[in-house]
Amino acid sequence: MHYPEPISKLIDSFMKLPGIGPKTAVRLAFFVLNMKEDDVLEFGKSLVNAKRNLTHCSVCGHITDKDPCQICEDQSRDKSVICVVQDPKDVIAMEKMRDYTGFYHVLHGAISPMDGIGPEDINIATLLKRLQDDTVQEVILATNPNIEGEATAMYISRLLRPTGIRITRIAHGLPVGGDLEYADEVTLSKALEGRREL
Ligand SMILES: [Zn+2]
Repeated sequence: MHYPEPISKLIDSFMKLPGIGPKTAVRLAFFVLNMKEDDVLEFGKSLVNAKRNLTHCSVCGHITDKDPCQICEDQSRDKSVICVVQDPKDVIAMEKMRDYTGFYHVLHGAISPMDGIGPEDINIATLLKRLQDDTVQEVILATNPNIEGEATAMYISRLLRPTGIRITRIAHGLPVGGDLEYADEVTLSKALEGRREL
């Protein structure tokens, strides 16, 4: 089916988003056409602003509009603990839970030889730098409970062993194969509470 070019471009853009197939893309594109012009402008501005003004925190790797991020700048947090997660969305899930008051380290991925992703491709080097003084006493590995997440947790635990820092892995109350970000707050809280030594 042929759409006027501006619509087909919009459809193409929607199809670049995860989980959006051709049918949904068409529906969304036509929905935008019916939106108020102000709302469309606001939407477009939000897209560009989010992309332009957000960066990764140079300390923890979380997404932020100022560097270091709000969490890293928060003096009231527990400096002795760092929780290692795969994705910025995991930080947001953990923060929603409110049981955790330590700091984070975002890897931006997991080790996956099948996909050609090695330890040097994720944000591990800066984690080692953060552990150089004696401030941190525990590193909680909260990577996802799937093959890549487990492999990454094992790799980091081996890497950190010589430092003598306590290394723990969140418990398996989490659905195996699932992503941390989708765990509900109670499950996540229990997984954190039941973490075990590695
Ligand atoms: Zn940070």
